[in-house]
Amino acid sequence: MDKIDCAVIGAGAVGLAIAREMAMAGREVIILEAENAFGTHTSARNSEVMHAGIYYSTGSLKARFCVAGRKLLYQYCAERGINHKRIGKVVVACDESQLAGLHKYKKQAELNGVDDLRLLSREEVNALEPEVIAVAGFLSPSTGVIDSHGLMLSYLGDAENHGATLVLNSPVTGGHISDDGIVLDIGGAEPMQLACRTVINAAGHGAPAVARLIKGIPAETIPNSYYAIGHYYTLTGKAPFTRLVYPVARQDWLGVHVTVDLGGRCKFGPDFSWRDSLDYRFDESREALFYEAIRRYFPGLKDGTLQPGYTGMRPRITGEGQEAVDFVIHGRRDHGVPNLVNLFGIESPGLTSSMAIAAYVHELLAA
Ligand SMILES: Cc1cc2nc3c(=O)[nH]c(=O)nc-3n(C[C@H](O)[C@H](O)[C@H](O)COP(=O)(O)OP(=O)(O)OC[C@H]3O[C@@H](n4cnc5c(N)ncnc54)[C@H](O)[C@@H]3O)c2cc1C
Repeated sequence: MDKIDCAVIGAGAVGLAIAREMAMAGREVIILEAENAFGTHTSARNSEVMHAGIYYSTGSLKARFCVAGRKLLYQYCAERGINHKRIGKVVVACDESQLAGLHKYKKQAELNGVDDLRLLSREEVNALEPEVIAVAGFLSPSTGVIDSHGLMLSYLGDAENHGATLVLNSPVTGGHISDDGIVLDIGGAEPMQLACRTVINAAGHGAPAVARLIKGIPAETIPNSYYAIGHYYTLTGKAPFTRLVYPVARQDWLGVHVTVDLGGRCKFGPDFSWRDSLDYRFDESREALFYEAIRRYFPGLKDGTLQPGYTGMRPRITGEGQEAVDFVIHGRRDHGVPNLVNLFGIESPGLTSSMAIAAYVHELLAA
């Protein structure tokens, strides 16, 4: 049986950031990816926003890693020439009923260490974004946009330059805990077994299933998988905004917000609905909902200007009617297995947090 020091399961932004961290720390790393390319799931189907860290509960991993990860990411992008822009974001209250929500966000952001927000009056919102109708807002200057593929390519490049290997078409199909590590069963064209000293399960949507396939991980530590889809519509023509525009959230998502991408194009979304499985099909019946939600803050939106864009699926570990939870990152203390880390529920702001998550996983394994 082949042996390896450290296997990372999943080549999305988080898996690649972890592989980079481990390889740069001198570990021998293999990255096992089920698909025929890296970063084809959640890491390729998101808003590509570097979040400031506004919304997450005080002391949560999401709050900590978003704020720390965003700072690391800006520095890394500058060093490596990864395409990004500190474009800024305006969070708006569309009417008086949303003012309390707006102030709650600002307070939460400050508790999270986001110290650069500036409250805006109706006139100030209008001066920054003349197409937006709002009663008040705040500006988050440190929110930005990033080329997520360029970021993953750079993570992979760093990892490979430090000896890591990416193996595609290699789904983990089973495994067990042995006396001297973790044995993984790997499928694909030439199925094999690999004896690993350390395993990091960063399989995104597939992480709970992978954990369940490895015999010896206590079942009660493995959450269920749920699938919450988000649709994006693109706007034809020139972007009417220069910054990201987020209305105060309705329900458990951030409203139908505006992202201006690195090419200056405008997209709206994601919305939120449940699916039974990993199913990226675009449901065009959402269109009327989008027009209605967007016109609450952008009344100038013309009929016929929204085009179906793409979808992404949140890798949820709590289902309908349950609260969304924090990132779940389990080490030995949680599941009792040495040299194994499971990452569950790494939804937004996972991209922003990727370098901070990688540093945390490294520390967890070293402890
Ligand atoms: C709609 C949406 C919008 C978002 N917007 C933002 C944003 O603007 N900013 C932000 O910071 N975050 C955002 N996020 C969150 C961010 O995209 C994710 O947190 C991040 O991409 C997760 O990366 P990952 O590597 O954990 O997962 P993934 O990118 O899904 O990678 C997991 C990999 O594991 C592989 N895999 C699965 N099973 C197996 C197996 N058995 N064997 C081997 N490989 C396997 C998959 O093929 C996949 O390549 C958004 C998420 C969604 C859904």
